[in-house]
Amino acid sequence: MAEQQGEVCYKITIQGIVQGVGFRPFVYREAKKFGIRGTVKNVAGEVRISAAADSFLDFTDFIETIKKNKPAGSFIESIAIEPIELFTANDFIIVESMESENPQSELSFFSPDLALCDNCRAEIFDDNNIRRKRHYFNNCPVCGPRFSALKAFPYDRVNTSMNVFPMCDDCSTEYKTPDNIRFHAETICCNHCGPELFYKRADNIYRGSEAFDEAVKDLHNGDIVAIKGIGGYHLACSPYDAETVRRLRLLKGREKKPFAVMFRDTSDISKICEITPEEETLLISPARPIILLKMKNNPFAREVLNEADGRCGCFLPYTPLQALLLAEIPCLIMTSANRSSSPIIKDESAIFEFSNGNINVLYHNREIVRTIEDSVLQVVSHKLRFIRRARGYTPLPVFLENTGGHSSSLLCAGSDLKSAFGLLKNNVFTLSQYIGDLENAEVFGQYEGEISDFENLFAIQPEAVICDAHPRYFSSEFAKKFAYERNLPLVKVFHHHAHIASVMAEHRLSKVLGVAFDGSGYGEDGNIWGGEFLLCEEDNCRRLGHLKYAKILGSDSASEDAAKTAMCYLYGLGITPDMSIIKSALDHNINTFLTSSMGRLFDAVASVLGICQINGCESECAVRLQYAAEYEAKYGVTPVNMSFTSTANIGNGTHIWDYSDIFQKCLAKPQGAALGFHIAVCDMIEQMCIQMRGEENIQDVALSGGVFQNAFLLEMVIKRLAALGFSVFTNEKVPPNDGGLALGQAYIGIRRYGV
Ligand code: ZN
Ligand code: ZN
Ligand code: FE
Repeated sequence: MAEQQGEVCYKITIQGIVQGVGFRPFVYREAKKFGIRGTVKNVAGEVRISAAADSFLDFTDFIETIKKNKPAGSFIESIAIEPIELFTANDFIIVESMESENPQSELSFFSPDLALCDNCRAEIFDDNNIRRKRHYFNNCPVCGPRFSALKAFPYDRVNTSMNVFPMCDDCSTEYKTPDNIRFHAETICCNHCGPELFYKRADNIYRGSEAFDEAVKDLHNGDIVAIKGIGGYHLACSPYDAETVRRLRLLKGREKKPFAVMFRDTSDISKICEITPEEETLLISPARPIILLKMKNNPFAREVLNEADGRCGCFLPYTPLQALLLAEIPCLIMTSANRSSSPIIKDESAIFEFSNGNINVLYHNREIVRTIEDSVLQVVSHKLRFIRRARGYTPLPVFLENTGGHSSSLLCAGSDLKSAFGLLKNNVFTLSQYIGDLENAEVFGQYEGEISDFENLFAIQPEAVICDAHPRYFSSEFAKKFAYERNLPLVKVFHHHAHIASVMAEHRLSKVLGVAFDGSGYGEDGNIWGGEFLLCEEDNCRRLGHLKYAKILGSDSASEDAAKTAMCYLYGLGITPDMSIIKSALDHNINTFLTSSMGRLFDAVASVLGICQINGCESECAVRLQYAAEYEAKYGVTPVNMSFTSTANIGNGTHIWDYSDIFQKCLAKPQGAALGFHIAVCDMIEQMCIQMRGEENIQDVALSGGVFQNAFLLEMVIKRLAALGFSVFTNEKVPPNDGGLALGQAYIGIRRYGV
């Protein structure tokens, strides 16, 4: 921009999270302040401003304030400014949104769902506020449903689930009044308009405040109530009533997973859990995720956490309805309404069928456009770590490094477990919400549906498809079919390479020592990998070391029976006494596979130590082993000294890590073995990293894979590697488990098929 005198006119295009966060009203107010005339509008996924200013100085001040004072939930990826011919305008106005002229060339970003803000919260508890007191759907430009309510771009009321609710006169006035906080609040409503609350108990249907009061009464009486939320239904009940919680587990198909608990406020949480400042910030953030917190004491019925009470998943109300409910009842189990491993229920017809008249339903008539489960996070080494990334975070993008001439649109199919796919367009990667395990047919149906939904919404036409190398993954089958039907190239990426690449993508690294520890993934030699040391550079990957292969009975996904797994390890080491059935199957290779999995080793050790024999829910054995180690560390138990030993494989120099000493030491079930095992794993990582640093002259280490959800292990590894001068990188934007795999696939895919 050259220095200019007198009137100037510019076209400004802003990309980023600029829709659904109150951006246009903000631009309007700032324009007024600086005497700017012209228009602002949403076009597809971006905001465009036509600005006429009296002087160049006014204009630059206007741009500076946009950058500096942008709304809380917004994010500016880029601002493009180009001079245009002078035009005359007397005022500044917000104009009708436009569809894109060329959707393929544009990037679309959008706001995730935003939790009830403090101001809207104050309004619903304010008895003098006739229009908004006890308003179950209160929202404003900085809070309320967004992605779960979006039907199409651009973000206008007509394109949201609020399109069926005409505004009352008062709301309409607020919507049109520039000085009002709800100026252009697309999902605006009040007690006189908008959605309505209902409560169904057997054949009775209550409405409005009566519905609310009846539901509260039933919850107080120990009933289970299904409650419609933002991205689906919850099943709610008191965590103090063992009988009710047992009923809830039956309803969910005998689910074993610990239940999350919603609390009124952080001070109530702090009575039973430790909360660090970082955890508190996350608990009250607009994403309002479930945070796994260390328990101080467990006052709940033992069925709530299923006796695994090292951590409790805690969260705070994020809708007005939840805030009002929790004001009546201090805490509630809030678990996804579904049968274990099926998708979360979002529609009335499905919840009525599910409840079958046995549980009561608190619902409303605002449609949930797409299902989004609650996000689950933990804080380790002062940083946020995703376990499940969904509500409050989807569809926030991850920006990859610009790979020079490379640019294309990719579909990354992800994994079968905790599946989430990703779409890459230019350098912008959008990860879908957590969908679930694809072996469930309904979940797979949802996966397919979400892929076409994302394609349409974000106007992405993939030019190549990236998938896991596993020959029997449903996601790989899907990718193959998708690529075939559209005549697109298909790129297969090895599982553990993708895990490490997900960290490289996040931190924009080109070469790392990778430690990929997880339950299972298809390896380059056709065996099941999972305890891997990899040297990764750009899209290349070389295996430098791994856990010694064990021959395990069963299929690689059937990992429930830790006792059987333990038997296989022991038999392989020549330790176990006569287990005739397992022995003959192993000897004759009947339904066996070879694995270097660290996850399976955790299972086996937990079993040998008598801590847990069955994975009743995913990674239950590993989680209990972690809690046992934390307990031992907390009470100063001396760790049992045990170690992995390395032998370099003759020929290719790969380091093979042997665990026979681990089992020898654990068999007597000594005190301090759980702690000793964690330390031994950490020792092995340390030794291998030092070794690799010597051989490869590189100090950047990337840790990924589901095993690193183990907060105790992760913290110890990070500390010890950092003390040795390594730079340690981990996943902070996507989960380290298979839910983040699509990002690694994108990193590798763009390097192999970028055009
Ligand atoms: Zn608000
Ligand atoms: Zn109204
Ligand atoms: Fe994995």
